[in-house]
Amino acid sequence: MKYIGAHISAAGGVENAPLRASEIGATAFALFTKNQKQWEAPPLTPESIELFRQRCSQLGYPPCSILPHDGYLINLGHPQAEGLERSRKAFTDEMARCQALGLDRLNFHPGSHLGEISVTECLSRIAESINMALDATRGVTAVLENTAGQGSNLGFRFEHLAEIISQVEDKSRVGVCIDTCHAFAAGYDWTDAPSMYGEVAPMGPEDVKGAVVVRGYGRIIDALDSTVGLRYLRGMHLNDATKVSGSRVDRHSSLGQGEIGAGVFKKLMEDPRLDGIPFILETPDPDLWPSEIAQLKEWANRK
Ligand SMILES: [Zn+2]
Ligand SMILES: [Zn+2]
Repeated sequence: MKYIGAHISAAGGVENAPLRASEIGATAFALFTKNQKQWEAPPLTPESIELFRQRCSQLGYPPCSILPHDGYLINLGHPQAEGLERSRKAFTDEMARCQALGLDRLNFHPGSHLGEISVTECLSRIAESINMALDATRGVTAVLENTAGQGSNLGFRFEHLAEIISQVEDKSRVGVCIDTCHAFAAGYDWTDAPSMYGEVAPMGPEDVKGAVVVRGYGRIIDALDSTVGLRYLRGMHLNDATKVSGSRVDRHSSLGQGEIGAGVFKKLMEDPRLDGIPFILETPDPDLWPSEIAQLKEWANRK
């Protein structure tokens, strides 16, 4: 069983997200539980929480089908004390909001070193931030999303995710979400087509800009399993990519309209190793979501 949906607007209140998800035929959804572009947010009201829980239950959205995303300002690997402190506080608040809503996971981007600290130091800070948030909350798993590797964002190699997980104390409450566009941009070329960048680059902590790291669907899933472990997978973001693999540029396309191509999404839907998690579209045209969801469901059910 695969849960399939999109990142839904929570405008007017989180309780509206399950209604909107249901309208487009989704069996999964993602949402922001607060304005993603601001630090502060008013607390969720008891009415809003109750309505959200009721609707999720009535419309058939168990916690394992919902993948909330944290705000964009948070940097859990911030090089400076003040920025780090602020991020940790905001992240713990987001975890607490998920807990209040009865949700069991929170998806976030690991963090950025901003060119001021080393990759190793930044990864350790991120892990420490997660440990603090897990200590302060209950029942919510911190779900690290792989990134495209734009700027100084970490998490663009599976090794980064694995290193953070290794430093998290409670392994039962840490997981990963793989974004297909981010992975592709970072050099995980899902297609089997020959790459414009030539041969596969050596794996290592250093950044090899413009290189394909791993090529081919099967090899990428195997690399994820051997580096991180598929048991840590708590969700996937399904996005086609506007730019070529290895570009390190994060531009989402609708499924089948980018460089990845529809065939890869069909393979993902047919892969029984990926059952039981939410698959979330973050594709740019919401008008296409109903048909994208219908197509994904068809592939998933036909296998
Ligand atoms: Zn994200
Ligand atoms: Zn994503």
